[in-house]
Order: sequence, then structure tokens, then C-alpha cells
Amino acid sequence: MRSFKDHATSLLEWSKLSRYRRQLTRENELSISASNNLQTRLWLKMAHRAVLQVPYYRQHFQEQGYSVEMITGLDSLALFPLITRDIVKEHTAAFIADDYRSKRLWKGHTSGSTGPALDLFMPRFQTTIEKGYIYSQWRRFGYEPGKSRLLAIRARPDYISQAGSIVEKLPKQPVYNASVFQVNERTLPQLLEVIAAKRIEFIHTYPSTASYLAGMMESFPGYLTQFRALKAFLLSSETLHPGAREMVNRVFGVQVCAHYGHAEHLILGGNCEHNDEYHLWPSYGLVQLVDNAGNEISAPGLAGELVGTTLTNPAMPLIRYRSGDFAEWSQGDCACGRKWRRICNVIGKYSTDVLFDDSGDRFNLSLIMRVIIFLRDVYPFEFLHRYQFVQETAGEVRLKIMPMQTFTTEMAEQIREGFEHYTEGRIRIQLETVTDIPLEKSGKVKLLVQKLTQEQDEQH
Ligand SMILES: [Zn+2]
Repeated sequence: MRSFKDHATSLLEWSKLSRYRRQLTRENELSISASNNLQTRLWLKMAHRAVLQVPYYRQHFQEQGYSVEMITGLDSLALFPLITRDIVKEHTAAFIADDYRSKRLWKGHTSGSTGPALDLFMPRFQTTIEKGYIYSQWRRFGYEPGKSRLLAIRARPDYISQAGSIVEKLPKQPVYNASVFQVNERTLPQLLEVIAAKRIEFIHTYPSTASYLAGMMESFPGYLTQFRALKAFLLSSETLHPGAREMVNRVFGVQVCAHYGHAEHLILGGNCEHNDEYHLWPSYGLVQLVDNAGNEISAPGLAGELVGTTLTNPAMPLIRYRSGDFAEWSQGDCACGRKWRRICNVIGKYSTDVLFDDSGDRFNLSLIMRVIIFLRDVYPFEFLHRYQFVQETAGEVRLKIMPMQTFTTEMAEQIREGFEHYTEGRIRIQLETVTDIPLEKSGKVKLLVQKLTQEQDEQH
């Protein structure tokens, strides 16, 4: 998820929005029926507004001969078509509500990693409320906005203080910022010094950076004492693989707080202290899972595409938007007591997270990743700084690796064998040692550079 503002601005604004703070806290206690009532109320308001104020939906209702009176409850979602990023991209202006056209809106965009970027608009104050949802999620793990000592290692401009430090303290807040692009073996000692001296309680970063730190600490366990005040890692923006979570838990002995969201801001979920499934905020958006034909999936355990409907963005209400991410419904109640719906086994965008064999069959990269996760279980130390899959030809993939000194040829062989096993020999792998794998502009490691075309992707 994009961060909208720096922590200082968000914290100050959020501290003033006590009504929203109370509302989000109350949501934790909702019964299933109360949660349905809340969603119905918000949905009716949003759906009416969409038909009355948003050209795209107004036209759809006209063409179908529907009227706004037909919107009576959550079932009325079916009156709205499934939309895709391409549709919104093509008709962006038609998705903006008439009554927000002349107002100043916050403009964001999708990352564009799986196609052309999409411009997104929302009311300015909404960006603070968005942040509030995240703070509420962090609070479960003990984070107190404005009080807890936080180190944020994110994609941001490089920074060097006069004293040569890569860590910048925000004025009047116990918040420290570092650029993920500047974190490496050379700067690690000064980062550790800040973590120890400032008794950092929370580190907000990407899963890949958390695994990197965990890997380094596994190699140099003597430095673990620097993290003695640490309470949790706050992770987002990348798929969090179970192995990475497990490694952070094991090395640092702290919990991982992760959330699932996307740039379109239609779906938001977070894990809890009892389980790793994403609990979906009822007031944030409506979530559906659909199969390839667009039919809704309601049974647990079946993978479907996540389809989101905003309940929070009146300026550009996207309804039944196919996110390109896949997940399954979870079963049963959670020990945290919340009655929210939960999703599990989230898989990122198809075109970036699958490999293709010769006949065009797709292999889920998160399964294949288990090869490296398995090796991390076998060896009690970290051995790769970063790695990245590159696929240019069906049935073949290159794995670029930035090995640590601990990496051996035996490990390379184990990766090859494991990969062979998981792809049933249908994708050939070639390991390539490199000295650098550049981070994305967003600060993340791109796990897979998929060069096969979108058309091939869509055929299967
Ligand atoms: Zn829970």
C-alpha cells in the first residue's frame, strides 16, 4: 500500500479525528449481523451516489433499464458490472463523481508493474483516515501512534545527516526514517546503533527488508541484543511468504503485523496476534471472490480473484473491481474474537507471480518459493542477500542470486533439485550469480520479472 504522507503529518491529523478513531475501535466488537448492517448502510449510500453522481454507473443503469430504487441491500451489488483496471484506465474521467470534479483531490496511482499505471483520486482527508485504519491494525500489536518508537525503512529519498547518518529523526515524534536503498552491509552498523540507542520498538518496512535483517542477524547473532526493545515488525506492500514470517519470528522473537491492501484502496485486511489470515475491515470495502467466469465463490478453500468495492471513497467509487490478486475464504472463528471475514493464501497478480511451462500451464511462484524457504529451514543461517526470478521463455527461468559468503555449490544444487521437484520438471532453471539486484522505485525487490506477454497470461 502506498504511504500517502509522512508519519508526522498523518499522526498529527489522525490525532484530531477522534470520531473515526472510536468508530474503528468499535468495529472490533461488531457481531456478524451488526457488521452486515454497517456494510449495508455504507453500501447503500455509496451505490446511490455512484448511480446519481458517477457518469460511468449512471450510463450503465440507463442502458440496463435499472433505477436507483432497485438498490436495496448488499444483493444489489449484482446490478453493477465487474470492472477491470483497463476499463477504469480507459474511462478514468467517467469514474469521478460530478460533485467532486471541482474539488481538490489527492491523486495516486497503481504501481504499473503489471500494465499501464492507473490514476486514482480520493478526497484529501480520506488519506488520513486510510492511515487510521493502518494505525488501528498496528495497535493490536501494541503500537501507540505518536508514542511508540518507530523506525520506518521505506522507499524514500536518500538521506545523509551532517554527522553521516542515514537515519533521519522526525521533529517532535519518536519516529525515525531511513531509505531502504541505503540499507546494506556497510550501513548496517549505524542502523543497529540507532535501533539500540533509541530503543526502537517497531520497524515498519517491506517483507524483503525484514528477511534481509533477519538473515544478517542470523549470521551475526551477537548483534541481536540491539533489538531488545523491539516489539513487532510492521510489514506491508509485498507478498509476505510464510517462510519470511517464520524467519522473523524465529530470529527476533517478535510478532509480525502484516496487512493486505492494494493501490486502488478497495480491500484492506490485517493479521492478528492469533493467526496470519487477513481479517477484512468491514467499513473499508466489500470483498467478493470470483472464479474465471466471474461467478461468486462463497465456500472456503477455493481460490478466486479478489473483487473489491469501496465503502470509503466518495470521489471515485470503484465497484466490483477485479484486483488481479487471488485468495481463499478462511473457515471458522478466530481466537481474537472478531467476527470479520478473513482471507488466506493470498497470491499476487497473476502476471507477476506465475511461471509458465512449455504448454502454457502456470505454476504459482509462491509454491516454488518454498524451495528457498525449505533451505532456510535446513541451514541455520542466511545465504542469499536477494534473489529474483526472470522468465523470458516458456518452460525456462533464470534465478538471479546475490549470494552471501555462506552460500555453497551444494546449496545451488539443492535449489535446482527443489525447483525441479516443485515444477515437476516442466520448467528448467538456471542460476546466475550477480553482484546487485536493483530495488524497484518503490523500494521493493521485484520477485519475478515476467517477460512473457499478458496475452499468454490471459489465455490460461
Ligand atoms: Zn484474529
